[in-house]
Amino acid sequence: MFEKILIANRGEIALRVLRACRELGVKTVVVHSEADREAKYVRLADESVCIGPASPRDSYLNMPALISAAEVTDAEAIHPGYGFLSENADFAERVEKSGFVFIGPRPESIRTMGDKVSAKQAMIAAGVPVVPGSGGALPDDPKEIQRIASEVGYPVIIKAAGGGGGRGMRVVYTEAALLNAVAMTRTEAGAAFNNPEVYLEKFLENPRHIEIQVLADGEGKAVWLGERDCSMQRRHQKIIEEAPAPGIDRALVERIGERCAEACRQMRYRGAGTFEFLYENGEFFFIEMNTRIQVEHTITEMITGIDLVQQQLRIAAGEKFTLRQRDIHLHGHAIECRINAEDPYKFTPSPGRISNWHTPGGPGVRMDSHVFTGYTVPPYYDSMIAKLITYGDDRHQAIMRMDIALSEMIVEGVHTNIPLHRELMQDARFVEGGTSIHYLEHKLAARA
Ligand code: ADP
Repeated sequence: MFEKILIANRGEIALRVLRACRELGVKTVVVHSEADREAKYVRLADESVCIGPASPRDSYLNMPALISAAEVTDAEAIHPGYGFLSENADFAERVEKSGFVFIGPRPESIRTMGDKVSAKQAMIAAGVPVVPGSGGALPDDPKEIQRIASEVGYPVIIKAAGGGGGRGMRVVYTEAALLNAVAMTRTEAGAAFNNPEVYLEKFLENPRHIEIQVLADGEGKAVWLGERDCSMQRRHQKIIEEAPAPGIDRALVERIGERCAEACRQMRYRGAGTFEFLYENGEFFFIEMNTRIQVEHTITEMITGIDLVQQQLRIAAGEKFTLRQRDIHLHGHAIECRINAEDPYKFTPSPGRISNWHTPGGPGVRMDSHVFTGYTVPPYYDSMIAKLITYGDDRHQAIMRMDIALSEMIVEGVHTNIPLHRELMQDARFVEGGTSIHYLEHKLAARA
């Protein structure tokens, strides 16, 4: 195992990685911007380095500053967390070229999966079902584009190969609108992602978002650790996740999970990863792979009993990979609510000083948060201030515990989305299970 690593992130995930390090006896270096000087995890870390001003570009995205922080502190490896540079293949490459271990996949894997066209092709090769579509980048010939679209069948969605974060996509309902939409998406993609390549997919009208967690050792061993249902979203942002996904045939989930593990074996994938699918009418369709730890990894930890962040560290340190698929069993049910400092219905950020912070507890309650009374939520970053996770023997108990936990939580000084979460825990359709990715937006729109 490493003696010392550097955590190249902030907020709750910096604290999460720090906790995994403490359990493994690994010393930690935490980097922080000028805005995060007062963060609790900065005090808990063995060492800390200020890497620049508040703006992410000058701090958490500043590759030379991060690498020199690792150099001056003699860290052996860098954990990128999620967001920021976690899926940047150039960063992973620079980390390795500078003599450090990147706690994540090889740069080539990040690059392949970062390009949605090459990711889809890799999945097709591994037998993972994908959304029907152009099969590769769209050609220039307008007749050919029209032929592909009518073969796939309207509505279709035009997506940028280099897209991410819900940007670079356009839905097309009729042939009349097709060529203009392709041209516009190309122009935007060229400007935003420096890659004008676009492809086309069937647009699924009412899918659920289901994803599969994997762990792999980089040498051809891989396991999958159940699925998560992340359909409760607004503006393409997940706000509630649960595991397992309610109401889906277990034999089907198992077949898909095994395909994902097989894809990892074929790619010699290394570390933790997530295969994201849309699920509609009893079928799974791959949309993208995330080559990092995810926000919602916690619920998988609750139902498998496996610490995914520790596993990332063990794999990166080259420890023998001892997990076997037959040893992975799913127990009970877990739910995560992302607590954001924001107006619960307008979704506008609500930064500021937290004057009172009281967190819930009791059986089956887990709180992952870097916040404390007196903490100031800075305006420069993501608005998520906590992840509240509950576990139960079954879904009913997990929901009940979440509702109670939310009712115990006190946050004063900033607005949060706790009222929305409480409402959802009591929402008849959510309680029934299996709502689509559009459910929350429709529910909110119906009330407006
Ligand atoms: P990003 O990397 O920007 O998150 P994704 O490919 O994961 O892009 O897609 C983001 C979201 O866009 C999905 O979660 C889904 O809501 C919607 N989406 C993407 N592809 C399709 C599709 N073929 N049909 C319907 N919705 C889609």
